[in-house]
Amino acid sequence: MSQYDYDLFVIGAGSGGVRAGRMAAALGVRVAIAEDRYLGGTCVNVGCVPKKLYVYASHFLEDFHDSANFGWQHQAAPKFHWPTLRDNKITEIKRLNGIYDSLLKNAGAELIDGRATVTGPHTVSINGKELSAERILVATGGWPFIPEFPGSEHAISSNEVFDLEKFPKHAVVVGGGYIAVEFAGIFNGLGANTELLYRGDLFLRGFDQDVREFVAEELTKKGITTRFNTNIARIDKTDNGQFEVQLESGESMVTDLVLYATGRVPNTSNLGLETAGVELDGKGAIKVDENFQTNVPSIYALGDVINRVQLTPVALAEGMALVKHLYQGQQIALDYRQIPTAVFCQPNIGTVGLAEHEAREKYANIQIFRSSFKPLKHTISGSDERTLMKLIVDADSDKVVGVHMVGAEAGEIIQGIGIALRAGATKSCFDSTIGIHPTTAEEFVTMREPVS
Ligand code: FAD
Ligand code: NDP
Repeated sequence: MSQYDYDLFVIGAGSGGVRAGRMAAALGVRVAIAEDRYLGGTCVNVGCVPKKLYVYASHFLEDFHDSANFGWQHQAAPKFHWPTLRDNKITEIKRLNGIYDSLLKNAGAELIDGRATVTGPHTVSINGKELSAERILVATGGWPFIPEFPGSEHAISSNEVFDLEKFPKHAVVVGGGYIAVEFAGIFNGLGANTELLYRGDLFLRGFDQDVREFVAEELTKKGITTRFNTNIARIDKTDNGQFEVQLESGESMVTDLVLYATGRVPNTSNLGLETAGVELDGKGAIKVDENFQTNVPSIYALGDVINRVQLTPVALAEGMALVKHLYQGQQIALDYRQIPTAVFCQPNIGTVGLAEHEAREKYANIQIFRSSFKPLKHTISGSDERTLMKLIVDADSDKVVGVHMVGAEAGEIIQGIGIALRAGATKSCFDSTIGIHPTTAEEFVTMREPVS
């Protein structure tokens, strides 16, 4: 009989915590999992899933327009009804919360509704009770960061944006990362007059330069106003419930909503980690070794709270790797290179492997294959949306080291290309692959002449 109440106590039922807790419980490990807000965590409740539903919603207006030259006639201009979208989203997320509940319970994990804090290497406190566990896994995710400035309390974050009472006529989005460009697209597509403010020269820092420039052009063509090298100095609420936004440049604007998408910080405050002596890094992330073990041997951490790669599939992979390591004796060999990723702006960005600037640093001889064109659909639709596709090849080994796309369904396409890159595909493999015609994706196997 174990001296502990549980073998594994998981704090946080998000992407990583649920996967680890569920897999461990299915192996017969005595698991408890604590959650204080919402089952499924950020991704299911205020992240990937509702975001993608809103991205779908925001695309319809364009589709209605595009259909006219294909012969479709509409009696009246389509109108958007925000409460329908929001409330259908709420219903779907509730259904998913229920599925997570069943998944955990059916696997044999005990779900505890409440906020857990660590009180020692083997103990947690929750709902006024102290419980013990052989191992504790901290999977508490991240939290939106909004810088402090006069009136910053009037800005909302991605936590609040999904359930707005009223859809804004005018929206200001601040930031230049995933969430900012995705939500600028959502607001714009759903009919809000949208301004995207970014503090630097060009948003999406870290992405391939061609991708960044191309997306900036496409978003502008869609009607989003992008303002680079711009910061907000203060926000004041007006008498009629709007917001007056003062920019550092001295300009000002009036808006219905200010969304700050300026990054996320690891969710480690008031968790009791100091009591147990768990070390954090300078950004507040939990420090772990290659086995997700902290400096306190019985305490582990994974997902956004360790701040390696803030993506759901990464948290899932970390959860599975940890359970296989702890309970099936397998070595952890998580490879963080070549993680495919998509930004669901419009059109989508899909990317895997190195950006051109990274490839140039790593390899002596690289070849760039690039193609930008009007996709077949838009030869008739009248839309001026274009697609960008780019391959980066290490000329010495012929290996494809980076693939980038901006265009419809780029995320779907790059997922498949990601497998090819993991398998070590060379440019010759791409060239000898027969295309699927007519598709956009076939361009990846027909790019013959390097542009540089
Ligand atoms: P989380 O999913 O955040 O789960 C942590 C859980 O711990 C939460 O449920 C929290 O309530 C709970 N918790 C915290 N403290 C305690 C405590 N003391 N006691 C009990 N419970 C606690 N990733 C993608 O791959 N694709 C996307 O399209 C995508 N879109 C996103 C869109 C938005 C708007 C945001 C914000 C994120 C998005 N992400 C996306 C990122 C993704 O959501 C995260 O990487 C992922 O959820 C991280 O999983 P996690 O398990 O580490 O943490
Ligand atoms: P990101 O880290 O992607 O971007 C943050 C942005 O905010 C950057 O452009 C940054 O600028 C800017 N910023 C930071 N601090 C300030 C400040 N004080 N004032 C003004 N601007 C500032 O964070 P997000 O919030 O967009 O998303 C968090 C993470 O969630 C992402 O990194 C991603 O891992 C994940 N995610 C994934 C999605 C997907 O897979 N499709 C979708 C949404 C989120 P600078 O570049 O100059 O530092």
